[in-house]
Amino acid sequence: MAKTVLVLGDQLSLDYIKTLETDRNQDTILMVEDWALVKRKPYHRKKIALVWSAMRHFGNRLRDLGYRVDYHLDASLLECIASTGSPVVCIEPREHGIRTCLKAAGVTFKTDPYWFMTQDDFTQWMSSRTQPRLEQYYRLVRQRTGYLMNGDKPADGIWNFDKENRKPFPKNHQPILQPHFTPDSTTLSVLETVAGIPNLIGDLSGFNEPVTRDDALERLSWFVIEALPDFGRYEDAMAANDMFGFHSILSPSLNLSLLSPAECIDAAVTAYADGTAPLASVEAFVRQILGWREYMFHLYDWLGSNAWDEQNALDANEPLPDLYWTGDTKMRCLRTTITDTLRTGYAHHIIRLMVQGNFALLLGVRPTEIRDWFWSAFLDAYDWVVTPNVIGMSQAADNGLTASKPYAASGAYINRMSDYCKGCAYSPKSFAGDDACPFTTLYWDFLIRHENTALASTRLSTNYLALRGKSPADRLAIAERRQQLKQLLQTSQL
Ligand code: FAD
Ligand code: SF4
Repeated sequence: MAKTVLVLGDQLSLDYIKTLETDRNQDTILMVEDWALVKRKPYHRKKIALVWSAMRHFGNRLRDLGYRVDYHLDASLLECIASTGSPVVCIEPREHGIRTCLKAAGVTFKTDPYWFMTQDDFTQWMSSRTQPRLEQYYRLVRQRTGYLMNGDKPADGIWNFDKENRKPFPKNHQPILQPHFTPDSTTLSVLETVAGIPNLIGDLSGFNEPVTRDDALERLSWFVIEALPDFGRYEDAMAANDMFGFHSILSPSLNLSLLSPAECIDAAVTAYADGTAPLASVEAFVRQILGWREYMFHLYDWLGSNAWDEQNALDANEPLPDLYWTGDTKMRCLRTTITDTLRTGYAHHIIRLMVQGNFALLLGVRPTEIRDWFWSAFLDAYDWVVTPNVIGMSQAADNGLTASKPYAASGAYINRMSDYCKGCAYSPKSFAGDDACPFTTLYWDFLIRHENTALASTRLSTNYLALRGKSPADRLAIAERRQQLKQLLQTSQL
């Protein structure tokens, strides 16, 4: 019997078409650009352009392969489904909201073959744990898949190279050249449409994103040759003149399913086998995809979207400062990274975690508010990945479910791992006075505010040892500076 195969905007994979047993002779592939959805959040212009251009290219590719494609512009997804007149099948959506809507509309799902573990595997794994940790999960998936394993032992006998992989860039570091993806006529037409949508944010100029599978494969091969050898060593390093470092910038392609996680891992593992990339880098990269990416999805799925929205373990209720939308601040680290993100829709992991996320954590911003900023500002943001990363990992609002301790750090960390503090109006070492670094003041203030909670006795106990060195006068100075910082924030003078 003929069926309709629904391809969502983040399911642009021929593997999925095969999984759904799509018959070129009788089935119809349905693709819908639901422009009304775009009006719900102030998304980054480049993200919308990326998704629509990648969808249109994928639709054209399917037609070239002989499939019948019913492609709708500016239409309601649910109305299109209702008018098909045949059973509708789809790969199970990653996001809960869309999953619920499609289920209610009668769409049936097949399991996404791109996850290494199933929901059932994960639920079973969680059932025997009170404190799940990425490291345990990652080792299990390494053992199951055999990646970088010698029998039941990790390659070279080492599971984790984190200690080696925390170097700042050397002096005079220069960015490596990025690949270029020239917009074709399909992309140019999308860019014109997106430019006319009023409520979006970010800069559309200089659009340079992989919009086809061939483009995404080119980025993967660029990464393996040019960046992977240095990926591990410098994965935590930040510099004002280099927003990418040696990171892969593969998340937009992975999250659109233009690439499979397995092929990215295979490419890195092959580089190790060929001797072109060291194990410390290859393991670090495999950990990101086989470990963190997979783990975050399953945690999101396991807890459920609504439950994530309710997490606020640190009772954080401050509004998000305007500077996140403008980059207008004297804090050089935030000014540089937010301006870069609004321009490109990207920041690497440590910038997201230890600069952009850290400031909101220290200030006590409502978790869903900072989550919504990340969702708006980044090209790779989708509920399933942005929610656990922001609410769980970055804002520690989930009571230790995602991470063993909050990623709270003072200006000293940012100074050690970057060159932002050179030339900043503030001094990373000072916690009080007019030149005190806001991160440093707010870091001590964060510890003081949570001094009588379990954080002090368990998860941040080492940080609290250092707080003992602060005198009553220091504590008063920290409280005064915090008040001053809040006023400066309100008047956009910080
Ligand atoms: P690389 O450093 O080259 O890593 C390789 C790949 O590993 C990435 O492409 C990504 O697919 C995967 N990966 C690594 N860490 C994670 C992680 N924690 N969760 C999921 N995948 C991971 N990632 C997103 O894809 N979308 C988001 O909206 C997103 N929001 C984040 C918000 C915060 C506050 C934090 C701390 C992290 C967030 N991440 C998000 C995870 C991570 O920062 C990005 O995946 C990564 O920076 C993407 O850049 P890259 O491709 O150059 O990554
Ligand atoms: Fe950021 Fe503080 Fe360093 Fe300035 S001194 S760049 S605010 S960490």
